[in-house]
Amino acid sequence: METNKILFINPATGNQFGEVQMTTPVEVKQAVDDMRQAFPIWSSKTVKERIHILRKFQTLLIDERDEITAVLNQDCGKSRQDGLIELFVTVDMLAQYCSQAPKWLKKKHVSSGLYLFKQCFVEYRPYGAVAVIAPWNYPLTLALPPMLAALLAGNTVVLKPSEVTAATGVLIEKLIQRIPELSPFVHVVHGDGKVGAALTQAKPDYIFMTGSTPTGKKIMQAAAENLTPIALELGGKDAMIVLEDADLDAAARWGTWGAFFNTGQTCMAVERVYVVESKYDEFLRLAISYTKDFKPGFTTNFDSPYSMGPVTDPRQVKTIERHLDDAVAKGAHLITEVKKDGMFFDPIILTDVDHSMLLMQEETFGPLMPIMKVKDEAEAIRLANDNAFGLGASVWSQDNNHAKKVADQIEASSIIVNDSIAQFGIPMLPFGGIKDSGFGRTHGQEGLMQFTRPFSYAVGTSPIKWDISTILRENGHYNLATAIMGVIYGTTLKQKWQTLSQLFRKSKTTTKDSTPKNMEAIKISE
Ligand code: NAD
Repeated sequence: METNKILFINPATGNQFGEVQMTTPVEVKQAVDDMRQAFPIWSSKTVKERIHILRKFQTLLIDERDEITAVLNQDCGKSRQDGLIELFVTVDMLAQYCSQAPKWLKKKHVSSGLYLFKQCFVEYRPYGAVAVIAPWNYPLTLALPPMLAALLAGNTVVLKPSEVTAATGVLIEKLIQRIPELSPFVHVVHGDGKVGAALTQAKPDYIFMTGSTPTGKKIMQAAAENLTPIALELGGKDAMIVLEDADLDAAARWGTWGAFFNTGQTCMAVERVYVVESKYDEFLRLAISYTKDFKPGFTTNFDSPYSMGPVTDPRQVKTIERHLDDAVAKGAHLITEVKKDGMFFDPIILTDVDHSMLLMQEETFGPLMPIMKVKDEAEAIRLANDNAFGLGASVWSQDNNHAKKVADQIEASSIIVNDSIAQFGIPMLPFGGIKDSGFGRTHGQEGLMQFTRPFSYAVGTSPIKWDISTILRENGHYNLATAIMGVIYGTTLKQKWQTLSQLFRKSKTTTKDSTPKNMEAIKISE
């Protein structure tokens, strides 16, 4: 039945713990219009003033840590500590951005080149009202950092959290409302894909979306209607490559963590593992042993005995089961038993997998770790690249130079050596994808500067006699302009001399004389 309410359901218990009214398309349009109206007030504040306000938000986030982890715990079923990881990454990002933003956003004086009588500057101006569309897997840390980066850069924001974790969206809205200097410049809209579609059609000035590749394509189509600039942070199928010289114990320990953390619902989770033949048996033995540490379960306590929560989105269960059935039908071997209890899965290791299987090609977003034996490093690289996605990857070797050589050959935009997932949490590292994983970056300088458009201006006196502008514009300066160009930019001494000597040739050379002898090169063939 069609309803205009979103119910908050804890995926671990199935219990409803609240609800929110969906924002109507008319209200969504109004939200964008309101944020565009508020934009001149926010953008006219200095960067320092904006930082001052956002620091208050930072204080509030830390003060309300227990409330935040409680909501994440109910909304996603994840442990309080996993919720705290989300908050930690968010606060770390905000703090680093606040310290770097004044430097990055500063007006830049750039060279005026030959235009000696002008001064040239670039300013980094905000877009206006920015739409931030967020997914459910990390509902806090995939919503707040892009929202805060957009605000720091001087934009106002309409945030649309995921309908799957709508309680976190309501929490974010309430937290923002507690900072009166901030609340007029952010509007949170609640709802599903239809609300997201209404937002993209409401002509925001920039769209930043994190989510699946099919949704990213729809948003790109909608954005094309209004030529709205966008950034798309989409799905992944990250490869983990275990080389001959890897520390196998560390690879197994942190590789299984990378596969099963957040129940595998991480865009840069370890989704497929390639181990060189000589190390395969030992790695598999260690991975099985570490997998035993991952116990699924739910508690509201701060410290949890469980290391995996439930699958958060019921739709995701179907994908996990489809990938499992397909793999087993095609000959994959289940090393750990498939145990499912409601939305909880035990972690699953599979071997004898190959690239005909869906779980080696499509994003699973669940607690599966397919491990494949490969002949050598070259085969690992070839297979890692045999995929439509290009988000991240991990390479395991005790020789960092060796690892870097392998990393350089992987078609992904962020690679971590001897660890999993952690590259996302490092504030100064830009994160995003290539291929079907999208484009645009979050985090790092690039993640902040994407919310600005360069505005350039040149100032000076009007062109005087010896100004390059005057020389190029006034008639009769063909030979002089040629000489200037040749002397400054000629690539050989001979070329510099030839162009300079043109200064001394008769300026009244006839058109016939000056026509290049060989016009063949530019004749249009008939
Ligand atoms: P999703 O694509 O289903 O939804 C993402 C958001 O888009 C939600 O808020 C949804 O309501 C909204 N939406 C849906 N249809 C829309 C439309 N037509 N127009 C506008 N908005 C619309 O993704 P999800 O299931 O919430 O998230 C999981 C996906 O996100 C996975 O594929 C995962 O890999 C990806 N992800 C990527 C990154 C990254 O940084 N690259 C990070 C986390 C998650």
